[in-house]
Amino acid sequence: MSWDAIVLGVGGMGSAALAHLAARGARVLGLEQFEPVHGLGSSHGNSRIIRCTYFLDSRYVTLAKRAYELWQDLEHFTGERLLTRSGGLMLGARDDDVVDGALRSAREHDLAHELLDADDLRRRFPAMSFRNGEWALYEPTAGYLRPEACIRAHLARAVAAGAEARFGVRVLAWEASADGVRIRTDAGESLEARKLVMTAGAWLGKITADLALPLRVERQVMHWFSPRSRAEEPALETLPIYIVDRDDGRAYGFPFVAGEGLKVAFYRSFEETDADSVNREVRPEEVEPVRKFLEGLIPGAAARYQRSKVCLYTLTPDEHFIIGTHPQQRNVVLAGGFSGHGFKFCSVVGEIVAQLALDGTTTYPIEFFSPQRFLAMKAGLERATRRP
Ligand SMILES: Cc1cc2nc3c(=O)[nH]c(=O)nc-3n(C[C@H](O)[C@H](O)[C@H](O)COP(=O)(O)OP(=O)(O)OC[C@H]3O[C@@H](n4cnc5c(N)ncnc54)[C@H](O)[C@@H]3O)c2cc1C
Repeated sequence: MSWDAIVLGVGGMGSAALAHLAARGARVLGLEQFEPVHGLGSSHGNSRIIRCTYFLDSRYVTLAKRAYELWQDLEHFTGERLLTRSGGLMLGARDDDVVDGALRSAREHDLAHELLDADDLRRRFPAMSFRNGEWALYEPTAGYLRPEACIRAHLARAVAAGAEARFGVRVLAWEASADGVRIRTDAGESLEARKLVMTAGAWLGKITADLALPLRVERQVMHWFSPRSRAEEPALETLPIYIVDRDDGRAYGFPFVAGEGLKVAFYRSFEETDADSVNREVRPEEVEPVRKFLEGLIPGAAARYQRSKVCLYTLTPDEHFIIGTHPQQRNVVLAGGFSGHGFKFCSVVGEIVAQLALDGTTTYPIEFFSPQRFLAMKAGLERATRRP
């Protein structure tokens, strides 16, 4: 067998998987269809929120804590700052899940936090505009990662530990047996490995068509704005990251970064797309609602429009990830369906998939990510619709 493991897709998760597999001494090859650190998948656009409080489900907290440790470890390796702890606001009505769910997870896991009402918020964050009746969970250690730098760092660590990564190579097909896997690429090669780790992002559904995983690829647009004058920038550089639920939408954003501006986006577009044919042009009518939203939250911050960029979400029906061994092929590990909130976990997902590939099991509590849950769902649906 030529390789212990092949990693299919070297983006956010795949670069981390390569680094962890190589660190464990595995002979590992990464295959990526585009250039290193490209802007055509799900891991580009300068910033990704990282936080420990988790309004979606407090089961993510354990993983988030480990992710922080591993990002820090990676920073020590490269000597480059990957994570900025700006603090984070989860803002909405008091009973809104963004606030209440985050609070629940903070209390359950004893995480540092403050619960602030509109008056507290106005005092603490004078550059922002809060509505009467709004509350926020403030998490002091929340912040943002620099995704392109994170991928470069994981790749550097992987290569330093002996991994090989090939770019501009698309995997066309794979075949698994009891002994290992065989892969066919668009360069006409046939490659063999003991294990295959699939970290194909928005392409995962295509390369695992046999499983019919219920994955939905959504087109998302990120936007950057700047205030009118340089003098206004310093006050915006010290803002926290935020996730905000208001009647004009759920949005999230970042502090001002010199040379980039303030990045902001709506959380969902509900615009289903295909990873190979997605429209990467941004329409003017997509910019205006976001500009209005940002002006409402941080007056003056959206005075000048900078640019927009398209990115892809890969959503599962329950918005939980898919991480586990392929239900029918024990030599294949799946890691996908990160549903728009996966980047912060790349570091720990790399460790988890390395355990799954090399040990056949993981020490992390990830039962709720099992790919089996969708097969069980499909079987249930088939039973329910079967005629007598
Ligand atoms: C706009 C936006 C904002 C987000 N904000 C946040 C946030 O604030 N915090 C957070 O935690 N998460 C966030 N996310 C989610 C997070 O960025 C993703 O979950 C994460 O980047 C997914 O990483 P990935 O490795 O699965 O995908 P990718 O990084 O896209 O990697 C998949 C790779 O596989 C390659 N590939 C696919 N098929 C093949 C093939 N057949 N052969 C070879 N290569 C192949 C692709 O080219 C790609 O490079 C956001 C996502 C988007 C789109």
